[in-house]
Amino acid sequence: MEQEKDPIYSNDPEEKGERLPGSLPIGRLAPSPTGVLHLGNARSFLIAWLSIRQQGGRILLRIEDLDGPRVRKGATEAAIEDLQWLGLDWDGEVLIQSHFRERHDQALEDLVSRGLAYPCTCTRSEIESAASAPHESNLPSSETVYPGTCRDRWSSVEEARRVSGREAAIRLRLEGSPIPFEDRFRGSEPGHLEGDFVLRKRDGTPSYQLAVVADDAADGITEVIRADDLIPSTPRQLLLYRLFGWQPPSFAHLPLLVGPDGLRLAKRHGDTSLAHYRSQGVTPDEVVGTLASLSGLVGPGLKRMPEDLIDDFDLGRIGKDPLIWDGTRQVPGRD
Ligand code: GLU
Ligand code: ZN
Repeated sequence: MEQEKDPIYSNDPEEKGERLPGSLPIGRLAPSPTGVLHLGNARSFLIAWLSIRQQGGRILLRIEDLDGPRVRKGATEAAIEDLQWLGLDWDGEVLIQSHFRERHDQALEDLVSRGLAYPCTCTRSEIESAASAPHESNLPSSETVYPGTCRDRWSSVEEARRVSGREAAIRLRLEGSPIPFEDRFRGSEPGHLEGDFVLRKRDGTPSYQLAVVADDAADGITEVIRADDLIPSTPRQLLLYRLFGWQPPSFAHLPLLVGPDGLRLAKRHGDTSLAHYRSQGVTPDEVVGTLASLSGLVGPGLKRMPEDLIDDFDLGRIGKDPLIWDGTRQVPGRD
């Protein structure tokens, strides 16, 4: 799956993923194999898939397996099985993100050599104690704002390692202005940007932000549809597109599926994994029909497979509020 010639560095606009007039949209399903797929993932994937299938475009499947410590054995195979069971398909072979390390490293090297990134030897607890109050609402996964301790501390990664005796992470040097963007679903977003974020982690793996941009660009992705917990990541990704000179995709962020308590659907709301429903004899058309009805795409109580929803699909019909999944209902589609 390794590529000889990396399309990112090609001059051919088509290979670089620039939108040619009249070219078909390309989307992607990008599960992280860190756990099982649940109703929340299924709903985002369903909408991303419907949007592309309705436009007659291509949808890719990329397994985002870079988060080493969190990747679970067998989760990739399970995700593929769950998607197939749901009736979602994809075009081309399954892309495994970790196979494209060379691409991520090249992109990183580009930023480092242009002086846009720097080594950071801080540990998590050093960052937390040095930082002012965390602005959790604006940052991905309540991460603390990096206070910039290592901005002008090291002259090279080698020096950072030698002097500190630690492996260094690499962070992007931010200039601080926000990157407002137009979300296809939510409208104008302020694109708040704060904190020099990580491009390469201390264990040497590329960060999600870097890898997802390098891969989306190389794969020619033109539209990203995902859950709105990733909104704070979007300005970071848009900044990377800008720095690389790549054409960004359009973004649409959908409300999350939440429990009756308004919190993101999780273990405390019961087992909402697709595997669990399947083992209970629930059928995919019940799951898809329920997700489509919660999303405002069909009336309640209907059984539907994804392909039944293609013709009438309209992103604009999807409700703006978080979708509430009543945890007492054990079976989607059956009251
Ligand atoms: N792999 C990421 C996740 O599961 C999704 C990345 C994305 O859609 O940009 O959270
Ligand atoms: Zn640091």
